[in-house]
Amino acid sequence: MSRIVVLGAGIGGIAMAYELRSVVGRKADITVVSNTEWFHFVPSNPWVSVGWREAKDIKVHLPETLGKYGIKFSAAGATKLLPAENKLVLGDGSEMEYDYLVIATGPDLAFDEIEGLGPQGHSSSICHVDHAEEMNRKWEAFCADPGPMVVGAVQGASCFGPAYEFALIANADLRKRKVRDKVPMTFVTSEPYIGHLGLGGVGDTKSQLESLMRDRDIKWITNAKVERVTEEAVEVVEFNEDGSEKKRHTLPSKLNMFIPGFRGVNCMMDETGKGIEGLCNPRGFVLVDDYQRNPTFKNVYAVGVCVAIPPVEQTPVPVGVPKTGYMIESMVAAVGRNILHQIEGREPTDRPTLNAVCLADFGDSGVAFVALPQIPPRNVNWSGEGYWVHLAKVGFEKYFLRKVRSGSGEPGYERVVLKALGIERLKN
Ligand code: FAD
Repeated sequence: MSRIVVLGAGIGGIAMAYELRSVVGRKADITVVSNTEWFHFVPSNPWVSVGWREAKDIKVHLPETLGKYGIKFSAAGATKLLPAENKLVLGDGSEMEYDYLVIATGPDLAFDEIEGLGPQGHSSSICHVDHAEEMNRKWEAFCADPGPMVVGAVQGASCFGPAYEFALIANADLRKRKVRDKVPMTFVTSEPYIGHLGLGGVGDTKSQLESLMRDRDIKWITNAKVERVTEEAVEVVEFNEDGSEKKRHTLPSKLNMFIPGFRGVNCMMDETGKGIEGLCNPRGFVLVDDYQRNPTFKNVYAVGVCVAIPPVEQTPVPVGVPKTGYMIESMVAAVGRNILHQIEGREPTDRPTLNAVCLADFGDSGVAFVALPQIPPRNVNWSGEGYWVHLAKVGFEKYFLRKVRSGSGEPGYERVVLKALGIERLKN
């Protein structure tokens, strides 16, 4: 029986394990290896950070859940990948061999690249549920004694939606608490314009997000690099379109939250700190071909944020491409079928659509967008705004968590939303 190891148990890894169970069935022995016993639903982290959810509401304990569906589980984590030997070294020193490996380790958060950035420094994060919980403690103290706030995404970031979500959810929460008037708020982003989102904008996201931010008294600085974060301020350099320096800003901040740059997790790196040759690019993102398969190690696939995808265009300050839930689902669906084909002695045939479909919640409103394909010009280039997005996102959270708890590999909620919008044909 083929041995398939799925490395990582986030949105990509868990969806992958269930998809394999459903597509490959009992032809394979499936093991999930993570570095924690818990799955957490990352898109809900902004709500945890302002106390609209508790961490326990968005967490699932994996050992017994996966066991119910005949999927083995280890929380030892991988410390080293040895793709030429078809094995992993785990955190407890043991080795695990595989016939097929799917890497789904998400991002390593590169806070160390900017002085003072991150929970160990002077800024907060919502990228991990533990960070969001810590942020919530700071949030309560901040609301009791408010002051200026800075939110954004730094140079090299690829995940902009959650930065907008956090700024606008924070605004909604502060208004509810009737202290918004005491919080001057600035949004700082590496994007060339508001609503670029690492995708060259989608539909009318530029106007919609600018308008929402104007309406909610949030100032912004684009083409920005964060130089340093101190206890009292965020130091920012703004650039012109030709890449020359435009202006320096020192923004007072009593509270700030930034999405950092991402890179591959430690076990993707070699001794020199570069991505493993043949498997990864220098930043540790996994190289894949049209079938989500690594071109060098042909029994290794990758899904989710750990996959290398080039930027859609050159920008004055570097920005990456977001890898969102729907795109990840399309990778998962393709990998499931391609591994089945390989087990049956055939070549992989399925390509992921890599389209972007996203719901960004702002508490009292939201923006949804559909980009087919991801890189412009597009066949579908649509964005819509309204309170319905908030409701849809709450539904998405419940649907996905139910899916994780019930071991279901069925299509995700965003596909259901697309159908409701009358956009059904998403295949290549
Ligand atoms: P993760 O969810 O980060 O999972 C990685 C897994 O790998 C984790 O289980 C981790 O513990 C494990 N791991 C790490 N290192 C090791 C190791 N050495 N050994 C074993 N296991 C390891 N996208 C949307 O479409 N909609 C949204 O609303 C949305 N909101 C987001 C909000 C936030 C705050 C962020 C950061 C991203 C958001 N995204 C959203 C983007 C994307 O969907 C998420 O980042 C998603 O969690 C990515 O899934 P993943 O499986 O690739 O990575």
